Amino acid sequence: MRVAVVGSGFAGSLVARVLAVQGHDVVLLERGTHPRFAIGESSTPLANLALERLASRYGLDDCYDLAAHGRWVARFPELGRGLKRGFTFYRHHAGRPFAPDGSRTERLLVAASPSDHIADNHWLRADVDRHFVQAAVAAGVEYRDRTVVTADMLTALRVDFVIDASGPGGFMAQQLAIPSALSRMHTHAGLLFSHFDGVRLFPDVVAGLPPGPYPDDWAAVHHIIDEGWMYSLRFDHGVTSAGFLLKERVSGAPDEIWRRLLQRYPTIDRLFADAKPLMPLAYKPRIQHRLTRAAGRGWAMLPHAYAFVDPLFSTGIAWSLRAIERLGLLFENGGRGPTEQDLARYDALLSAEADQIDRLVAGAYHAMARFDLFAAHAMIYFAAVSFAEIRQRLQQHNAWSGFLGVGDPELGGLPRASLRRLRHVRTPADRRGFVQWASNAIAPRNVCGLANPAAHGLYPVDLDVLVRRHQVLGMSRESLISALPALRGGGGVGV
Ligand SMILES: Cc1cc2nc3c(=O)[nH]c(=O)nc-3n(C[C@H](O)[C@H](O)[C@H](O)COP(=O)(O)OP(=O)(O)OC[C@H]3O[C@@H](n4cnc5c(N)ncnc54)[C@H](O)[C@@H]3O)c2cc1C
Repeated sequence: MRVAVVGSGFAGSLVARVLAVQGHDVVLLERGTHPRFAIGESSTPLANLALERLASRYGLDDCYDLAAHGRWVARFPELGRGLKRGFTFYRHHAGRPFAPDGSRTERLLVAASPSDHIADNHWLRADVDRHFVQAAVAAGVEYRDRTVVTADMLTALRVDFVIDASGPGGFMAQQLAIPSALSRMHTHAGLLFSHFDGVRLFPDVVAGLPPGPYPDDWAAVHHIIDEGWMYSLRFDHGVTSAGFLLKERVSGAPDEIWRRLLQRYPTIDRLFADAKPLMPLAYKPRIQHRLTRAAGRGWAMLPHAYAFVDPLFSTGIAWSLRAIERLGLLFENGGRGPTEQDLARYDALLSAEADQIDRLVAGAYHAMARFDLFAAHAMIYFAAVSFAEIRQRLQQHNAWSGFLGVGDPELGGLPRASLRRLRHVRTPADRRGFVQWASNAIAPRNVCGLANPAAHGLYPVDLDVLVRRHQVLGMSRESLISALPALRGGGGVGV
């Protein structure tokens, strides 16, 4: 088939390459050029598993090496990346420095991998996206940059199918006048962001932190504040990508908003005291987008063209890669391309997944007011992804299984139920009740010992816990023990 992919972010380039490897005739159309700055940098174990599967199914050996920190550094030292060992969260309070307050600490560290070698990465997207374009071209994809794509151009190119990988660029939305579905989203946030040099390490600013399962900063770091939250992603070469997600629209120049926020939170202020932005701070009053359709006759969107919720929980890369796996399978049918039925299934799944991410993130924003609520709600995310990860590593993977528990009878309804409950939490008794509810709710899928008060918010990768919970996976203790080498060698048992 003759396929046009519009947009050459990592996802567009990768889907273009997958189809070219299958023998399709693919043209990749980009309105800009590479290298270029892009946001959306923090990968996860589910993302890396998908990369490894794409690598083995289509012979993309670079994808295998990019799926683990040690392999990446050894094979592609020139591609910028940052070691990511897990998810770190702190709750800050206006006017007060962060206090490592013993067992009542407002600090949560959830390991995603047991060692640096097989850890996840933050992707320096300027480097990574350029790499993926070059690899697509090497695989036979025709690449045209600085291109204004129009319907006439696609007709002239005689394409049979269009994959919209234009992200918020919204190519297909404009071509087909697809209505927005933003009104169904619960999440609402703006973004103030840049890349910085000279951000300090958290333990250099806050003394007396009990040792965690990994060094706090080598993670996706989340600073929760009254106004929303801040992400901080450290790359190995010393640059940090950081941004505030703000629930309310704010006024003023970006630098001024940044200064105001730092002044309110003394510990964040100290972390960024000597930091220099590497490009002007930018502010977007709202970053969510969502459409009413993700696919139709002769076209399909990748997730980021269809919907975006929030950076919280780093869902974007993993979701995009899952969709690339699905489209790859749909184009494997002897050159006929996806049927209408296939596309309807793809569309319905992306819609359910966008709703799921939205409810999970919206619940988290509600829960941010109190750290015990936030940590309890976050366990739904960690239970869903760790269960999926173990299943994928040990049992089977089906690219059509739903992302973040969609379609799972135990997990599927939890983000919605949690959001509903969180809206009604008022008293300390309500809070205790919610924490207990969340712990019970994830129990049927809790393979990693999450929601354990004795952990005091510090969750290492613990294979002994997994062995004890073998029944959650429907496996005998013996069969799980015999599968452990696959986990130790092939990747983490984390989230
Ligand atoms: C603030 C923020 C933080 C995020 N953090 C994370 C994170 O930590 N982890 C994570 O997993 N995900 C994160 N994401 C999501 C992540 O950014 C996306 O999942 C990812 O960028 C999707 O890649 P893509 O290639 O589909 O799209 P994009 O990266 O958006 O690339 C789209 C490409 O299409 C091109 N284009 C646009 N319009 C046209 C057009 N009309 N014609 C031709 N070309 C066009 C653009 O120039 C661009 O090159 C974040 C997103 C945001 C907004």
